[in-house]
Amino acid sequence: LGDLISSNTSLNTPQGCNLSGAGKCIAVLTSGGDAQGMNAAVRAVVRMGIYVGAKVYFIHEGYQGMVDGGDNIKEATWESVSSMLQVGGTVIGSARCKEFRTHEGRLKAAHNLVQRSITNLCVIGGDGSLTGANLFREEWSGLLTELQQQGLIDEEAAQKNSALHIVGMVGSIDNDFCGTDMTIGTDSALHRIIEVVDAIMTTAQSHQRTFVLEVMGRHCGYLALVSALACGADWVFIPEMPPEDGWEDSMCQKLSEVTQTSTHFAF
Ligand code: ADP
Repeated sequence: LGDLISSNTSLNTPQGCNLSGAGKCIAVLTSGGDAQGMNAAVRAVVRMGIYVGAKVYFIHEGYQGMVDGGDNIKEATWESVSSMLQVGGTVIGSARCKEFRTHEGRLKAAHNLVQRSITNLCVIGGDGSLTGANLFREEWSGLLTELQQQGLIDEEAAQKNSALHIVGMVGSIDNDFCGTDMTIGTDSALHRIIEVVDAIMTTAQSHQRTFVLEVMGRHCGYLALVSALACGADWVFIPEMPPEDGWEDSMCQKLSEVTQTSTHFAF
């Protein structure tokens, strides 16, 4: 961003454009499970795209919208992303799409993009969505050749759209993607966990009991580990470090060693 925005430029208005994106078309979609922050990411893509002079499209309902085309692919405006920065979920919709897993589905999706000269795609989603995006990028030139052979596009369109650029933004509350410091939604999920702990803390203190909390994260222990640290938990289970045999006894012993008056949390 630093290269694109001069220090005295306001991002709250489309004025003062630098036109490095002129003549380019970008599409943005959200796919798979929703994560808090997806709307902010969509807004950033739209506004930065417009700021650099590109034409930006929403693809509604994830890959399903890309396969179905039509009204699912609509041009975005500066105003169309107003008042959504703090809204949860995703205002452009998300879906799971079986058809995109098939070659036929991806061929239809490629046709819909080429018809609009979209050669830049921003996919906001989790592991599955980004795996699909990578496959689509790898297949792109073969898909264009097939479309040309079927007479659906001409040679000029195939040449003009010969390269597909994809950016993946990881929308996952689990923080489960390597190479990304913090995935979109993780911080909000952590915030929610801490709110819940704060809410049950008074009950826990009143009864001097041990509370066990199961938190989000699936195969990734980040949320369990960091919330355990933040709340001062006495015990934590994370998938990366499965408990050894006999953990029940050692956990009970550890908890009984801690002073009787404190509240225990195990994650
Ligand atoms: P997430 O992105 O949250 O991990 P999913 O795994 O359900 O969610 O993936 C979302 C969508 O991405 C799927 O419905 C499918 O359309 C597409 N997708 C996932 N994996 C693949 C794949 N291996 N090949 C092609 N498309 C895929």
